[in-house]
Amino acid sequence: MEQQQRHPLLEVRGNKAPSRLPLPGGRLKRGPDQMENALEPEKKRIRGLGAVTKIVTSHPRAPPLTTVPQTQGQIAAQKVPKKTGPRCSTATTTVSKSKKPVAAVPAQKPDISAVPPTVGGKKPSKRPAWDLKGQLGDLNVELKRYRERTQTLDQENQQLRAQLKEAQQQATALGEERRTLKEELAEVQAQAEQGQQELGNLSARVLELEERLGTQEGLVQELQKEQLALQEERRELAARLEEQERRLQASEVALSSSQAEVASLRQKTAAQGTLLAERGERLHGLEMERRRLHNQLQELKGNIRVFCRVRPVLSGEPTPPPGLLLFPAGPGGPSDPPTRLSLSRSDERRGTLNGAPAPTTRHDFSFDRVFPPGSGQEEVFEEIAMLVQSALDGYPVCIFAYGQTGSGKTFTMEGGPGGDPQVEGLIPRALRHLFSVAQELGGQGWTYRFVASYVEIYNETVRDLLAIGARKGQGSECKIRRAGPGSEELTVTNARYVPVSCEKEVEALLHLARQNRAVACTAQNERSSRSHSVFQLQITGEHTGRSLQCGAPLNLVDLAGSERLDSGLALGAEERERLRETQAINSSLSTLGLVIMALSNKESHVPYRNSKLTYLLQNSLGGSAKMLMFVNISPLEENVSESLNSLRFASKVNQCVIGTAQANRK
Ligand code: ADP
Ligand code: MG
Repeated sequence: MEQQQRHPLLEVRGNKAPSRLPLPGGRLKRGPDQMENALEPEKKRIRGLGAVTKIVTSHPRAPPLTTVPQTQGQIAAQKVPKKTGPRCSTATTTVSKSKKPVAAVPAQKPDISAVPPTVGGKKPSKRPAWDLKGQLGDLNVELKRYRERTQTLDQENQQLRAQLKEAQQQATALGEERRTLKEELAEVQAQAEQGQQELGNLSARVLELEERLGTQEGLVQELQKEQLALQEERRELAARLEEQERRLQASEVALSSSQAEVASLRQKTAAQGTLLAERGERLHGLEMERRRLHNQLQELKGNIRVFCRVRPVLSGEPTPPPGLLLFPAGPGGPSDPPTRLSLSRSDERRGTLNGAPAPTTRHDFSFDRVFPPGSGQEEVFEEIAMLVQSALDGYPVCIFAYGQTGSGKTFTMEGGPGGDPQVEGLIPRALRHLFSVAQELGGQGWTYRFVASYVEIYNETVRDLLAIGARKGQGSECKIRRAGPGSEELTVTNARYVPVSCEKEVEALLHLARQNRAVACTAQNERSSRSHSVFQLQITGEHTGRSLQCGAPLNLVDLAGSERLDSGLALGAEERERLRETQAINSSLSTLGLVIMALSNKESHVPYRNSKLTYLLQNSLGGSAKMLMFVNISPLEENVSESLNSLRFASKVNQCVIGTAQANRK
C-alpha cells in the first residue's frame, strides 16, 4: 500500500503504454525547455548525428539508429519496480486495473527518410553559388519540413498536456485513495491493537484456564484414583457379599437341619422330662428313704456314741511301760475295728505295804470305737462323716472332745500345727464334707446355707473367738439369748455369725480364732485349756420345688481340760483362783454328764441351765439330737490317773441312750 502511495505513478509505468509518460512536475515544468530542446537537437543534428538521435529517441516509432540513452524518468521507472518486488507489481497491477490506463499519444512519425541528404548520412552536394534558385528551393523544402515538424511537436505538446492533466487527476485520485487507505490502515491498526489487547486478555484467560485445567486434571486424576480404589473396594465387597451369601446359604441349610434336629430333640426332651420327673420323684423318695435308713443306722449305732482316741507319745516324752494301754481285739477278731481298751494301773500303795512288786489293776473299757495312737485324722473323720451328714438331713449333731489338757482334744477338733492337710482336724474336714454333700443335694433341688460362729466359754463367761477390729482379743462378754420371743433358737449376743460356703472361709475363721486365743493367752495363762471352745454351724436346707425345709446345728466342742486339782495341797492366791476355775470346769463338765444322764433317763427336768455350755447346747442335745464324744487319752504313765477318770466319765456317757431322734423337719 505504502509502496503504491509512495509511487503512485509506477503503475502507469508498469502499464503497457509506451514509456512516454513524463514524471509529474519536473518534466511538465520543463515543457518550454523541451520545446527548445526539441529544436536544439535539430540544430545540432546539422552539426552531428549524435544530437539528432536524441530527438528521435522521444519518438516511439523512431528507428533505433543507435544506442539511445534513456531519460532519467525512464530509468527511474525501470528501476523502481525491481526494488518494490512482487508485492508492488501486484499492487501496480491492481491499481492499473482500477485506473484507466493513460493512453499513449500516437505521435506522428516524422518522415526522416524524406530528407535525403541528412538522413542518408551523406553530405548533400553543395549547390553552386550561382544556383540561387536551387538553393532557395532547398531552403523552402527545409522550411516546410521544419514547419511540419513544429506542427507535429505542437500536437505532441497538446497531447502531453492532456496526459499531464490526466496524470494530475490520477494523482488526486491516488491521493484520495491514499487517504482512504491511511484511514483504513489506522482503523486496521486500531483493530490490530484491539486484537492485540484481546489477544493479551485471551492469553491471560488461556493461562488461567490452563491453570484451572491443570487443577481439574489433578482433580480428575485424584477422582480416577478414588474411582479405582472404590472399584477395588466394590469388587472386594462383592466378593465378600458372595462369600457371605454362600455362608448364609450353608447356614440356612444347617439351620433347617438343626431345626429338624431341635424338633426331634424337643420331642426327646419332653419324653425325657417326663421320665426325669418320674425319676426325680423316685429319687426324692429314695433320698427320703436314705435319710430314714441313715438315721436308723445312726440310731442303731447309738444316739450317744463315745469314741476313745489315744494320742501317740510325742518326742521328748518318756516311753510308757509296755502293757499300760492295751487294745484288745473285738468279737469279730483283729479285722474288726477296735472298740476296747485296757488300762493297767499299778497300785503302788498296796505294793509298798507288803514289799512285793505292786500289783496292777486292769481296767477294761468298751466304746463305740477306739483309736489307738497310730490312727490318723482321716481315719477318725471317716467314722464321723455319716454322723455329720445327719445335720444336713435335719438332725442336730454335737461332737465333743473330752480329756485332760494335752491329751489331743484340739488336735482332734482343729488339727495339728502348721496347716498340714494331713493333720487337719474334724472341723475343717466336716465342713468340707458338708459343702460337697450339699452341692450333690443341689442336683435334687436342695439349697443349703451355712452360718458359722465360734465362741469360748471360760469361767462361765462367753466370748467371741471370731471378734475382729477393736473387739479382737478383748474377750468382751457375750450373752446367750433366745433368737426371738417364743423362739426355741438360741443366739449369742455380740458374737459374729459368718456365712460360709467354702473351705477357705472356714480356714480363715479357724485362723482368726487361734489369733484371738493367742492374744487372750498373754493375759491369762493357759486359758485355752481352761475353756470350752464351741464351733457352731447353722445349717438350713430348702427344697424349693417341694416347699421342704430342713436344718439343724452342727456343734463341734473342744472341751476344757478335765484334770482335777489336788485339793489337799496348800493353796496360794493363784492356786485358789485355779481351783475356782477348775471347779467351774468340773462343774460344767459334770453338768454335761448330768444333762446327758437326765436325757437318757428321760427325766422331766434336764439341768441345762446349770452351765453356760449345756445352756448354749440345749437344742443340740436331747431327743432329736445325735451326740458323739471323743475321749482323748494321753499315753503317758504319769497321766494314767486322769486317763482313768476320763475313761470312767466316758463310760458313763456311753451307757446312756437317748431316745429315738426326730429330724427337725418343718
Ligand atoms: P489338748 O487340746 O487336749 O490340750 P492338744 O491337742 O493340744 O491337747 O495336744 C497336745 C500335743 O499333742 C500337741 O502338741 C499335739 O500336736 C499333740 N498331739 C495330740 N494328739 C496327737 C495325735 N493324734 N497325733 C500326733 N500328735 C498329737
Ligand atoms: Mg486344747
